[in-house]
Amino acid sequence: MSKLTAPRGTFDILPEQASVRAGVERTARELLEAAGYGRIETPSFEATELFARGVGEATDIVQKEMYSFDDGGGRSLTLRPEGTAPVCRAYVQHGMHKLPAPVRVYYLSSFFRAERPQAGRYRQFWQLGIEALGSEDPAVDAETIVLLAAILAQTGVTGVRLRLSSLGSLGTREAYRDELAEYLRANAARLAPVVRERIELNPLRAFDSEDPGTREVMAGAPRLLDRLERDDAEHFASVRELLGRAGVAYEIDPTLVRGLDYYTRTLFEFTSDALGAQSGVAGGGRYDGLVEALGGPPTPGVGWAAGIERILLASGEHPVSVAPVDLYVAFEAARADAFETLTAAREAGLAAQMELAGRSLKGQLKQAERLGARFFAVVEGESVRLRDLAAGTEETVDRDALVERLVAA
Ligand code: ATP
Ligand code: MG
Repeated sequence: MSKLTAPRGTFDILPEQASVRAGVERTARELLEAAGYGRIETPSFEATELFARGVGEATDIVQKEMYSFDDGGGRSLTLRPEGTAPVCRAYVQHGMHKLPAPVRVYYLSSFFRAERPQAGRYRQFWQLGIEALGSEDPAVDAETIVLLAAILAQTGVTGVRLRLSSLGSLGTREAYRDELAEYLRANAARLAPVVRERIELNPLRAFDSEDPGTREVMAGAPRLLDRLERDDAEHFASVRELLGRAGVAYEIDPTLVRGLDYYTRTLFEFTSDALGAQSGVAGGGRYDGLVEALGGPPTPGVGWAAGIERILLASGEHPVSVAPVDLYVAFEAARADAFETLTAAREAGLAAQMELAGRSLKGQLKQAERLGARFFAVVEGESVRLRDLAAGTEETVDRDALVERLVAA
């Protein structure tokens, strides 16, 4: 029979890697919970319409990266490609706008995109994300960015750069879109064909192009940052001032474009020099129109998502030390006595392991050493030969007294 493997672009998380990930997750959880963020988890699939409306019909995600399927009853469902639209759906569904603002949540979940697999780009991947809903205070934008910078620093991501921009309000953006489309039409002959085809659908994406001719045209294109209305420009200036106060370095990048349609005002991306082509570690921004677009009350919001695999790649996957083992319970014939001792040790709060693979006594000692166990106890009926592997000493103790003796040690 041929061997089955996980689908292309997916991966298994084996126990050793799980402990590395747990380190990243712990760092994020502690930082975010201390800052007032509570965990939220939504289902792995949602109505396809949620992403069509919440991410945007014109985006790459909706146009070509979604795993959608019929649920058998004629409804289209989609494996979630991102977390912001589902969180906003939950916010509306559960009337969370009645809670004191801002409502601040984080999630740590897996997402699905039909992409071409390569290093740092998978079809199922993990994201840490946060959303803060119900306030347009620039301090909320700044807080989310500062927290992200702290998480990346504490998880050991190197060569971090923060690019920052502002898109203004939806109205400004629309007017700018028309102005940009007009400019692109006037220069259509010098644009790459794919860019030309997208002029009407999504002219902003032209800033993303690597094509030399297109890049030349874009160098002279009108800039949205120069078109911001007064309120939006002031909001952006405040975000910048607050980042400065927090000591977070950034570069203004007026060409920054991100893949979701619903962004307004603040927009940002963190990259790492430690990554190759897939240099994006995290991205986010403000999305003041999204909750309303999903049928909720007008509600400002801001958030970001960071790729866990990219954090691990960019931090050199610093291994986190595995949990220590206090006691290894060995035996030759007294299996039941050994098992009783194991259970008692665990009930007393010790990290205990017992021989489970029929090794010889010598093999059991080797296994205990491999696990880094402190004590090695050979159970022989009512007495135990207890070896302190750290000190290299051995003594014989009553089995009844063993656990108490170890807890004291
Ligand atoms: P990219 O430009 O690399 O495609 P993106 O703009 O599509 O990224 P977002 O939708 O903003 O990414 O998602 C936030 C983060 O999630 C990214 O910065 C990246 O770290 C991670 N990410 C996105 N897509 C993938 C993927 N297919 N595999 C692994 N991580 C991903
Ligand atoms: Mg992408």
